[in-house]
Amino acid sequence: MMQVFNTITALQNTLDDWRAKDRTIAFVPTMGGLHDGHLALVKLAKQKADKVVVSIFVNPTQFSENEDFDQYPNTFEQDVLLLERNQVDGLFSPSVEQIYPQGLDADIDIGEIGNILCGASRPGHFQGVVQVVNRLFDIVKPNLAVFGKKDYQQLLIIKQMVAQLSLDVKIISHSIVREKDGLAMSTRNQYLSADERKVSPNLYRNLLELKREIQKGQAINVAVKQARMQIEKNFKLDYIETLDANTLKQITDNTSEIAILCAIFIGSTRLIDNVIFRR
Ligand code: AMP
Repeated sequence: MMQVFNTITALQNTLDDWRAKDRTIAFVPTMGGLHDGHLALVKLAKQKADKVVVSIFVNPTQFSENEDFDQYPNTFEQDVLLLERNQVDGLFSPSVEQIYPQGLDADIDIGEIGNILCGASRPGHFQGVVQVVNRLFDIVKPNLAVFGKKDYQQLLIIKQMVAQLSLDVKIISHSIVREKDGLAMSTRNQYLSADERKVSPNLYRNLLELKREIQKGQAINVAVKQARMQIEKNFKLDYIETLDANTLKQITDNTSEIAILCAIFIGSTRLIDNVIFRR
């Protein structure tokens, strides 16, 4: 049976029991609204550790004023059933007060990587992500934690945080889980109307087409310009960038892996996707 914890004390009592029995602990942080992408992370976590803890916490500090914090999908009852069915051992579902007893403000510097791409469109977003993940790691003290490549910039920023703070947690990543038609699964896909949902798979198609053009030897700026035009047929483009996948800096002769990273608006819904490939 899965145990559900609403307080840090209750969670930590059980975590202490597990550790006393030498059980290893994998942690999967989420904001709920669970789908098969989240469940793939859970399955990977189960393969890598004895016990799996999932958190559901919609973190206020990673949303800006004009964003969807108040509307963010809450499917808690269904999430509990899905996690039970996937043999999760513990669900941590804390209040904002439990996570931030001293208030929401934090002075966090994550450098340039936090200010580009999604960090440029969503000022303060990654500072909020680092704040909450650091806090959750401090509470759970997992041996390892699993993140999705869907949020590729977030994954790199969390790896950077773990290295900079010398945290004793291994970061494992999972590839992007997609719908049959290619749309990357996202809690925010629930916002799409039937018509929006129909055009949404074009984003991934456009990114794959860009990848093919680059692999054929097309100059990157030319290929990106073409892709931009294709994307703008269906979506309002936030950004599309082609960068070194390991550093998110400009591609150089030393670049071994390329990341195509994209964010778009479809109606008022903002979606992100990416394609990573060797050249
Ligand atoms: P979220 O609940 O959106 O904060 O996501 C929680 C975790 O699930 C993050 O590590 C995400 O990168 C990951 N995730 C979300 N959607 C997907 C997906 N379609 N494929 C793989 N991982 C995902």
